[in-house]
Amino acid sequence: MSPTSYRTAPPRDGVAYYTWPGSECQAQVARTHLQRAEASFDMAASALVRRLPKVQLHCHLEGTVRAETFRELAQLRGVDSARANGPLAATYAFTTFREFLLTFAEVCKTLQRPEDYARVARDYVAAAAAQSVRYAEMFISPSVWTFFHPDLDVHACVAAMRDVFAVEGERLGIDVAFICDLTRNFGVERALATARSAVELAQAGLGVIGVGLGGDEANHPPARYAEPFAFARAQGLHTVAHAGEAAGADSVRDAIEVLGAERIGHGVRALEDPAVVALLADRGIALELCPTSNRLTGAVPADEVHPIAAFDAAGVRCTIDADDPELFSTTLDQEYALVASWLGDDAVVRFAGNAIDASFASAERKAALRGKLAEASLNMSVP
Ligand SMILES: [Zn+2]
Repeated sequence: MSPTSYRTAPPRDGVAYYTWPGSECQAQVARTHLQRAEASFDMAASALVRRLPKVQLHCHLEGTVRAETFRELAQLRGVDSARANGPLAATYAFTTFREFLLTFAEVCKTLQRPEDYARVARDYVAAAAAQSVRYAEMFISPSVWTFFHPDLDVHACVAAMRDVFAVEGERLGIDVAFICDLTRNFGVERALATARSAVELAQAGLGVIGVGLGGDEANHPPARYAEPFAFARAQGLHTVAHAGEAAGADSVRDAIEVLGAERIGHGVRALEDPAVVALLADRGIALELCPTSNRLTGAVPADEVHPIAAFDAAGVRCTIDADDPELFSTTLDQEYALVASWLGDDAVVRFAGNAIDASFASAERKAALRGKLAEASLNMSVP
């Protein structure tokens, strides 16, 4: 499939289904924030998908920090931030992927104590419960935390979140595990140190189940990180990687073949090489697709349709997620609703099932989640 073949997908059932909320300002994140409440697609139509029991596979804890919380923490912890002091609506405004990464870093600067992490965890689990999330594998980026706060007690911060998830998760019916991001920006040595730390956190029973690779993909290709990935895998951790977001299909291939990534974050640019699409399909490697993120970071350019339907048609296992929901002014439900507005409710039920299958949950838990999904989708078909 050529790189441009998904630009003009035909209407489905007579409906032009590749429309975006606020499409006139797709690349204008600040305006998107202001227009959040006026999103042009019909959220009422998503009432069905809102009730779907969901598995969340691509969500960064730091990206779930509400703008209000970020501003309060900045004040409380003495972080001098133009974002925190400017207009609320512009707190998370950015227009490039690099600016987005810098915003993410600013959020991390404000997280300085275990109670800060516990607060964010409490907010996350409440928001997730309201969206029928039943199981989540949450990214955390300890190497970014300690870049800004070298003396931070990572163990205590993860333990504080784990305690929140144990109590609130039990009460609300959600299990949350952690995947430690190795954050490629800091180079291989630091990635290796973070992988070692992830293994220690896992062995301490704090709920870490894997490592991931996020950050500046364009300047830090995945193949460099073979050693930390091999180390983590040898120690029994799962491995995932962001790829094909800010670099091309070769990055996705290397994440699979060199790093052994079991899932790919985004991967949208895999579509530039049919052989990489076939590799994903043949190996059953799921893509964690985050439509609003992909649009706002420019991973899917403003004049192109999102490739989720093309991947699905090619037999690639697609899942839906929100990436950094608060930073992108979206929610998991909103991402499901957006995809439902393109492809219909049946497709999002199928993608919800893909997320269960592609998760690292036990076979027993997967079966239980499948049962809940089947029950919910059966109820959905009853008027
Ligand atoms: Zn991500």
